[in-house]
This record gives sequence, C-alpha cells and structure tokens, in this order.
Amino acid sequence: MSHAVALGAAAHRPGGRRAAAFDVAAVRATVPALHQQVNGHPLVYLDNGATSLKPQAMLDALLGYYGGYCANVHRGVHALSVQATLACEDARLAVADHLHVAGPDAEAEIVFVRGTTEAINLVASTYGERVLAPGDEIVISALEHHSNLVPYQMLAARRGVVLRFIPFDAKGVLDLAAYRGLLGPKTRLVAIAEVSNALGTRHPVAEMAAMAHAVGAVVLVDGAQAVPHGRVDVRALGADFYAFSGHKCFGPTGVGVLWGRRALLEAAGPWHGGGDMIRSAALEGSTWADLPARLEAGTPHIAGIIGLGAALRWLQSFDAAEIASHEAHLLAALTAAVEAVPGARVVGTAPDKAAVVSFVVDGTHPADVGTLLDQQGVAVRTGHHCAEPAMRALGLTGTVRASLALYNNDDDVARFAEALRRAARLLR
Ligand code: PLP
Repeated sequence: MSHAVALGAAAHRPGGRRAAAFDVAAVRATVPALHQQVNGHPLVYLDNGATSLKPQAMLDALLGYYGGYCANVHRGVHALSVQATLACEDARLAVADHLHVAGPDAEAEIVFVRGTTEAINLVASTYGERVLAPGDEIVISALEHHSNLVPYQMLAARRGVVLRFIPFDAKGVLDLAAYRGLLGPKTRLVAIAEVSNALGTRHPVAEMAAMAHAVGAVVLVDGAQAVPHGRVDVRALGADFYAFSGHKCFGPTGVGVLWGRRALLEAAGPWHGGGDMIRSAALEGSTWADLPARLEAGTPHIAGIIGLGAALRWLQSFDAAEIASHEAHLLAALTAAVEAVPGARVVGTAPDKAAVVSFVVDGTHPADVGTLLDQQGVAVRTGHHCAEPAMRALGLTGTVRASLALYNNDDDVARFAEALRRAARLLR
C-alpha cells in the first residue's frame, strides 16, 4: 500500500491542526503518571532524558489497537488488518511531519525499528558493512552515548575501519578546529548526537554536517535527546541518517525510527531477513521488497508504532516556539537552583544547551544524592549516563542528571531545589 502522495501533501501541517497555546497546567492534565505520590510526596519527574512519561492520548492509542482493531498488518484482507495497517502508515505520516520530511520519498525513508540503538546498529551493520572499506574512517565525538559508539567499534573490528574522536572542552563544547583536522579523504561517516544526553550540549550539527559533506562523508545524527523537544528538520540539519527512540518522546518502549536518504538506505541493502522484507522468496534465493519494507522484516511493533504516532501528534499539538521558551526558562531555573547549593557544580556549561542539568556535589557520591532526592519524591538519574568515555575525560565516574520535558513546571524546579539543599546538607 503506498501513502507517498498523502505524505507529500500533508507533511507541512502536523496533524492538520493548528497548535494550541502552551499552558503547562493543561499539558500536565493530559499526563496521568505525573499525578502520583512517590515515597509520600507528589512526584517531581526529572528523568526525562532516560524516558518520558506518557500522555493519555498515547495510552488510548495502545488500548484502541490492543482492545479493538488488533490484527497483523500488511498481509490481511480483513477489516481489522486493513485498519491496523492504515494506523501504522498514519504513524509514519506523523513521523514525516515531525522530521519535516515531505515528498514522494518520505514513506520509503522512514523505517520503524526498536529504538535509537537499533537504528544505529542497522546503519553500522548495513551501510557500514557494505559501503565502508578497510582503512575508511568514522568520526564521532568523544561525548557520544554508547549506542553511538559501540556499534562502530564492533564494525571496526569486523571491517578494519578506523574510529576518530572529536574532543570536547571542560564546558562540554566540541572542538571544531580539531574536528576539521580529523576530516579528510578517508572520512566516510560522521556520527554525532544533536543533543548530548550526558551534558545537554546542543551541538552545531548543521555546521558540522556541512564540513563532513565537503569531504564527501555521510552524516548520522542521533536525535534521541532532540526529538522530545519539538520538530526537527532533518534535511536543514544536514543529516543523511537520523535516529530516535519512541519512549523518550512520550511514546512506547521498543519502537523508534531510522530516517535515511533513500539512495543511502538503498545502498545499505537489507538487514534482517524474514517475512515482509522480500519481494519474492524461492528456495534458491529471494529478492527484496521496496523501502521501507526491505528494512522492516517480521511483524513490527504495531501497537508501538501506533502509540508513537499518537505521542508525536500530542507533542505537535503544542506550539514549538512556546515549548522551547518554556523549557529554556526551566533549564535556566534548574541551573540556578543547582548553582545555589553550596558545593554543587554544574557539569556541562555550554552556551547552547537543551533540557539537561548534570551536576556533582563535592564530597558526595551521585547515587547517594539521587537516593535522597528519590526519598523526597524527586526522580533523577545518576551514574555515567551511558557515556563512560565522556565522564572519564571529565575526570568523573558519574553525575546526577536532572532532565526536563515540556510538562515540567516551576513547582518541580522549586521542589527539586529544596530537596537538593536538604540532600547536600545531610550528606556533608
Ligand atoms: N542516544 C542518546 C543520545 C541517548 O540519550 C540514548 C538513550 O539514553 C540512546 C542513544 C539510546 O536510546 P535507546 O536506549 O532508546 O535505544
């Protein structure tokens, strides 16, 4: 079934609706998990970088599928299967809107996977395996999440490609002069997060992609920490591949997206073999379906895809500029709250940051701070945040990380500040 025409026509009108004015109380009212007590306190959820809480519209979408039109997709002729197939393709349309992908290739370029990790492994195992040759170079930053590092290490071991790392300074800003020096005729792939999960730095991806393209390299952008904060224009960003996870942007776990330029996905070839990804199968061999089916072997996470579509529509229903200014306000307030605590130090002070405040408190272990915050109903993350090399470069074993979403409010920041003051007092 082809939905390319529908995608092309609707891609600039997310959901076909006008965004509502941003009202954080109204946003919070749509997210049931926010309204619970944890350890005897109303929950303050500041672990959005790890995963997000879910809006009712997303939960309703899951129930609508599992409790109603539950059926397998693509092959069915019966009504429930057709409805489920259409719902999945509508979710692809929501992704197309979110990534500003329009035109006849939009459908082919959006591949549903299990998450960011799987998307990057897909690229490493297909494009990396088939297009890169021994001695070719992959440039990544030294700040990446393990999922934007380890798949290339594994590829390097298999294919003899060479990894090069962009250093960063004490603020968490990448050294662009060093990056320029790393680029050359052997550079085939540059892989970079749009937003660092460990420190919150928003990297100058468009500028870096232009530099990569100038030497003929392809650019993979890890959008896991960017997509939850609003729509992304993957082409303006200069991405050739773009990966994100559903669960971090208000959708279900176990589903995510790889977007890639059609020609590159075609060059990458199939990955997993099985049902749905073949055009025709014979005992002697098989031929491959068109994109995106070629890269979506087996029964997909149908409910997850439908839920992801609903989550993105929910996010798109708010004004992007208002979300950005609300989150910037909270980020400044959260940063000030940490800085006001004696002995606390923010780790990652880049001028351009998104939604993340990593910090340490002198003389304390991050896990102890996190536990004391939890006892006061405040959920944060502690540890190396799956960015061990970055922590090591900073001379740390880990940090406490508070990370924001659009449903956080001033009260959350005030409760966090009070809880942190108390934790720091108790630990010193
Ligand atoms: N990349 C970044 C920047 C992340 O923050 C994360 C998760 O924390 C990932 C990749 C991996 O995402 P997932 O575990 O959903 O595949």
